[in-house]
Amino acid sequence: MFDKILIANRGEIALRVIRACREMGIKSVAVHSTADADAMHVRMADESVCIGPPSGAQSYLSIPAIISACEITGAQAVHPGYGFLSENANFVQIIEDHGLTFIGPSAADIRTMGDKITAKDTAQKLGIPVVPGSEGGVPDVESARKAAADMGYPVIIKATAGGGGRGMKVATSAADIDVAFSTARSEAKAAFGNDEVYMEKYLQKPRHIEVQVFGDGKGNGVHLAERDCSLQRRHQKVFEEAPGPCITPEERARIGKICADAVGAMSYSGAGTVEFLYEDGEFYFIEMNTRLQVEHPVTEAIFGVDLVREQIRVAAGMPLSFTQDDLVINGHSIEVRINAEKLPNFSPCPGKITAYHAPGGLGVRMDSALYDGYSIPPYYDSLIGKLIVHGRDRPEALARLSRALGELIADGIDTTVPLFHALLAEPDVQSGDYGIHWLERWLEENLGG
Ligand code: ADP
Repeated sequence: MFDKILIANRGEIALRVIRACREMGIKSVAVHSTADADAMHVRMADESVCIGPPSGAQSYLSIPAIISACEITGAQAVHPGYGFLSENANFVQIIEDHGLTFIGPSAADIRTMGDKITAKDTAQKLGIPVVPGSEGGVPDVESARKAAADMGYPVIIKATAGGGGRGMKVATSAADIDVAFSTARSEAKAAFGNDEVYMEKYLQKPRHIEVQVFGDGKGNGVHLAERDCSLQRRHQKVFEEAPGPCITPEERARIGKICADAVGAMSYSGAGTVEFLYEDGEFYFIEMNTRLQVEHPVTEAIFGVDLVREQIRVAAGMPLSFTQDDLVINGHSIEVRINAEKLPNFSPCPGKITAYHAPGGLGVRMDSALYDGYSIPPYYDSLIGKLIVHGRDRPEALARLSRALGELIADGIDTTVPLFHALLAEPDVQSGDYGIHWLERWLEENLGG
């Protein structure tokens, strides 16, 4: 096992990894920008190294600075968290070239899944059902027209290098296709430096269902059921739960086994998430994330396992601490993502926290790097905390969420907490009856955009 792990991240996810290290008796190294000198992850780690100025590009994304920090501190392994360098195959390669261990899958697997066209092709070969769409990339507008006519409108044009909900355009009829195609391409070029796009049938009322998988790197894969992340704003998740309220035990076992077998066949190492759209009883693969997800705590809650601990074990060459048969679902868990944003426009609202109190009590977990007097810097994303609740069933989890949200105090800034109070009053949210477009429509009707 490693003696010391460097965490190439910040905020709540850096704390999350530090906590796992401490329980395992492993020393932790925090890295930080000058803007984060007072951040909680720096205070909680055993050691810390300043790696650059505020901008993410010059600090948390600076590979030379992170490698130097490993050398200075003698860290043997790097946990990337999510975002930043977590899905950067080049980073993984450089880490390995320096004789260090990346806590995550191989550079080759990250590369395969990082290009969405290759990912979809690979998934299909592994027996995973995919969204009907173009055969590979769509090179020009004539091909786009033809592909759309073949699959039938509406269609969605997506960047092969896409991520974070960016680089997607919908065309509802032949009249839209030229504009949708060219804007998707130019946006993809601007955002990702790669203008290759592909097309899919645009599903009208799907749910977002994702399967948590783990590979031991030696040909064995397991699944930890699914999460439903259908409540999204601008293709970004805001409310996630496990298990999926509309998934039957038979569906769970079937899709779970397909995904577990696929990661086994890849000799995949570590945590991964296979994302699907789900409509009328069918699963359609959209992508695989080769890292820990923001919403992993809901899976931890229903299975009572520590996914970060398992990531570290697998990276150190140890077996998973559970088998498929050990994994039995207990109750229901919900997470909400609390952002420093002002409603109704969700405008970022960084600033000083004048008072902070985290909710607590039975079945409540608050993953956050906030503290009294902390100043949220304006340079990074606006997630300030994740509130996770666990109950014996979904109604209990919903009631607990409402109670816990009411206990949270984060004075001095605006947050998205009022959004969740309003959502919990909605019958559709109470009954779990929504697809991925529900929240956008609700926001338009209730917040005017
Ligand atoms: P990203 O990597 O940017 O998150 P994804 O491929 O995972 O991109 O898609 C993100 C979201 O976009 C999905 O959760 C869904 O809301 C929407 N989406 C993607 N593909 C389709 C599709 N074929 N039909 C309808 N919605 C889609």
